[in-house]
Amino acid sequence: MAKEKENELMEKVVSLCKRRGFIFQGSEIYGGLAGTFDYGDLGGELLHNIKNSWWKKFVSSRRDMYGIRAAILMNSKVWEASGHVAGFADPMVECEKCKRRFRADQIEDKEKCAECGGKLGEPKQFNMMFKTQIGAMEDSSATVYLRPETAQGIFSNFKNTVDAYHPKLPFGMAQIGKAFRNEITPRDFIFRCREFEQMEIEYFVREADWQKYFEYFKDQMNEWMEDIGIDMSKVHELEVAPEDLAHYSKRTVDFEFDYPFGKKELFGLAYRGNFDLTNHKLEYVDEEAGEKITPHVIEPSFGVDRAFLALFLSAYNEDTSGEEPRVFLKFKPKMAPILACVSPLLKNKPELVEYAEMKVFTPLKAEFGRIAYDDNGNIGKRYRRQDEIGTPWCIVVDFDTLTDDSVTIRDRDTGTQERVKVSDLSKFIKERLD
Ligand code: ATP
Repeated sequence: MAKEKENELMEKVVSLCKRRGFIFQGSEIYGGLAGTFDYGDLGGELLHNIKNSWWKKFVSSRRDMYGIRAAILMNSKVWEASGHVAGFADPMVECEKCKRRFRADQIEDKEKCAECGGKLGEPKQFNMMFKTQIGAMEDSSATVYLRPETAQGIFSNFKNTVDAYHPKLPFGMAQIGKAFRNEITPRDFIFRCREFEQMEIEYFVREADWQKYFEYFKDQMNEWMEDIGIDMSKVHELEVAPEDLAHYSKRTVDFEFDYPFGKKELFGLAYRGNFDLTNHKLEYVDEEAGEKITPHVIEPSFGVDRAFLALFLSAYNEDTSGEEPRVFLKFKPKMAPILACVSPLLKNKPELVEYAEMKVFTPLKAEFGRIAYDDNGNIGKRYRRQDEIGTPWCIVVDFDTLTDDSVTIRDRDTGTQERVKVSDLSKFIKERLD
């Protein structure tokens, strides 16, 4: 894609997200706060569908997974043991003239500032953890960090989970939650934020089995991406070279996505060996082998915000065949923030309005929740509005409805219409949800 086209697409996506209430800039009324975003009503629904689908596939439908919802603030000893206090840093350079800071490994010209042309200083290691104070003391004993990953909340509850549920190897623990990183240059919309959300699994195995489970989770990750509707022709697996591996990892595969701003990381899969459990001095009594062992770990790690972006970009479509270009988000029904929109053909006909509200909208809303009602403007405009937010079906109550108890259902992707009995609407939607 040419550079201009790429920027154009991102601009369209960012502006659609704002205009239709998916995503707003954080603290916008005060000029914003870099690297933070607020999800509006529709964005929140999409996030919810992403997280629910993940939890269902990787946790609640399985017998070998245990959820955890750890506190974001943890004893600093966790981050000392995990290596984050000493090593969770990116190389940073500062411009001697304008004082702007850049990620040293992401700039093309290592000498000159890209913004003002000033001279760049020597790279320094910059720790990305946010520090704060807990309680009334202001000495170092009160330092706590906002967690930069959810993984350590899992490891630090390994013993609690083993003691409470007595799981047999192999088994996993999973968590969805916020993570915070003081990124030097947050950028590319929600791709690189300072506050974001992760979905992580630590899967505990015997050392001899790690390769088998690494491959298994690689397949499971691909399956889930495809299942929610990420365009798999844009997903690429990258075997991370040994010299680029994170301090804890013995093998990592990054799943990269073709974003409009380049091919960049979407999710990661790492073999962490027994690095974390060893550092936290945690063990497991392997009854089968009759000995104490330190299990090894396979870690599938997902960013919720990057999943959102990849899904949104995969769903984004423009149809230019008509008089006016038509934008539609081709979400799978189960992921769409709104499943169906109900309309009376005309809003000044009380008999249509009453039918639409009482006999169609109210029962569907009670059953599915994600149902909208729209009687503004003409039908064509209503369709456009729903297309733009990815609503799969528009249901219209017209004069025939009053005598035949049928409605017109218009399909988002094809624009085709069919007549369906009001009593069959719930079945119609349910059948298409899976
Ligand atoms: P990157 O190289 O892009 O900084 P990373 O390799 O440091 O990412 P991990 O530490 O592996 O990322 O984090 C796991 C996942 O969390 C990533 O695959 C990504 O989906 C998500 N993630 C990491 N950093 C951010 C961020 N700043 N904003 C949004 N999502 C993030």
